[in-house]
Amino acid sequence: MIENELRSATEAEVVAELRRRPAFVMVSHVKPDGDTLGAGLALGIALKRLGKRVAYFNQDPVPRNLRFLPDAEFVSREIPSDFPPDTLYVFGDMSDHARAGEFLPKVDRANMLDIDHHLGNSHFGALNFVIPSECSTGTAVMRLLREMKTRIDPKIATCILTTIMTDTGAFMHSNTSPGALELSAELMRAGADKEQITEEIFGNKRVVATRLLGRIIDAMQFAHDGKYCYSHVDDAMLAQTGADGEDTEDMVNVLRAQEGVDVAALFKAYEGEIRVSLRSSGRVNVQAAAARLGGGGHFRASGLTMHGSLDEAIAAVDATLLAEGL
Ligand code: AMP
Ligand code: MN
Ligand code: MN
Repeated sequence: MIENELRSATEAEVVAELRRRPAFVMVSHVKPDGDTLGAGLALGIALKRLGKRVAYFNQDPVPRNLRFLPDAEFVSREIPSDFPPDTLYVFGDMSDHARAGEFLPKVDRANMLDIDHHLGNSHFGALNFVIPSECSTGTAVMRLLREMKTRIDPKIATCILTTIMTDTGAFMHSNTSPGALELSAELMRAGADKEQITEEIFGNKRVVATRLLGRIIDAMQFAHDGKYCYSHVDDAMLAQTGADGEDTEDMVNVLRAQEGVDVAALFKAYEGEIRVSLRSSGRVNVQAAAARLGGGGHFRASGLTMHGSLDEAIAAVDATLLAEGL
């Protein structure tokens, strides 16, 4: 029963459903990254070419460094009022539909397609195309585009290559498989501009962001024989540097990259909640740790949201990481 419930749909099943539906809302997760956006935009562009109506929903603004993505200007919090009742809502890069945020109007399960690569995806859709071995949600979308015989033009290629470069940390993380590199080569040949993606996403930091990184590094603490490194960002640090939440996106990786560190945590205590980013060198499963505290993600990269004081959050994450073998 459970096994049956968690069966991933085949490419053919998903594509048959895509062909049946007249209209689509591509839904990306709160605080969007290059994977959730690139995957939805690539599929949306392909569906528009088939004459379908497509809207892109995100409750947050597109981050500054992702505005170069084709069709990014159409991402919004609004859903066109004249979309038909059998519109398919395509959720990309989230283990549960709640990650779309509270501004998404209620959607019937029958109208939900879930495309994802997270461990522990709850299979919340009527159809669930969930492939944890894929390095990004965008590469799962690529399987569907092949099934649809979509011509991969420079726009689609740029979107998919962005998903790969985002989720592999520009080809540095352990999910950088030979297949991911081969597909990246194919996407460059199809017109994806790797230099532009590198510059826009990784080579374009604001000075205020670098000043904030300095503050995070100053606040860095080590525990458990140097195997655990953590730091935090709070409202005061943002106000003093002039940086904002978007600027913190990659910073946890700096903590993880310190010599001897197995697990890093960055506690983002602003906007009335504490969002915790966890990263692992591969020994400790931080997805399992995040899941114990109501979050999720991958073995080496996960996150969760907490309420209460920063000290309480630090203590709770510490205890949970120890329980996961830190
Ligand atoms: P981040 O540290 O925000 O880059 O997130 C790392 C990974 O954890 C991503 O795969 C996210 O989808 C996942 N993640 C982050 N925050 C949450 C959350 N509150 N609930 C579930 N998954 C999360
Ligand atoms: Mn994501
Ligand atoms: Mn992803």
